[in-house]
Amino acid sequence: MIEDLYQDIILDHNRNPRNFGPLAEANRSARGYNPLCGDKVEVQLRVDGDRIAAIGFQGSGCAISTASASMMTQRLSGATLDEAEELFRLFHDLLTEGRDGDEDEDELGELEVFAGVRRFPMRVKCATLAWHALRAALSRKADDGPVKTEP
Ligand code: ZN
Repeated sequence: MIEDLYQDIILDHNRNPRNFGPLAEANRSARGYNPLCGDKVEVQLRVDGDRIAAIGFQGSGCAISTASASMMTQRLSGATLDEAEELFRLFHDLLTEGRDGDEDEDELGELEVFAGVRRFPMRVKCATLAWHALRAALSRKADDGPVKTEP
């Protein structure tokens, strides 16, 4: 059912996104664009050594993309770069292959609410958009233009 897609926590983050707005003293950023839905997101980070000291996002998109970006920033504030990479992998697997076990479930925490999105392939791009932008931001210093979910 489509309503499974819009659980309370997703609606809450969409109505009241966390870490939304320009980030002071950002030293990494990347934009993402999902042409299938029209979602646009810019992820900004302040990386200090091997740690994400601060992370924020801006943009406009559907409830799924906004909530995913909001929950991502909440989760990764203060995380190490390795933790961010691992969480990206787990989240990506959750949405594309399903998880392998309870261990992943524990690590994903509230992000598990996006498991239902897997049944709606069009919306998977919405949920992963901010995460692809995150990964692009961490892998380069300059903003080389938007990351697209489609080639
Ligand atoms: Zn979308």
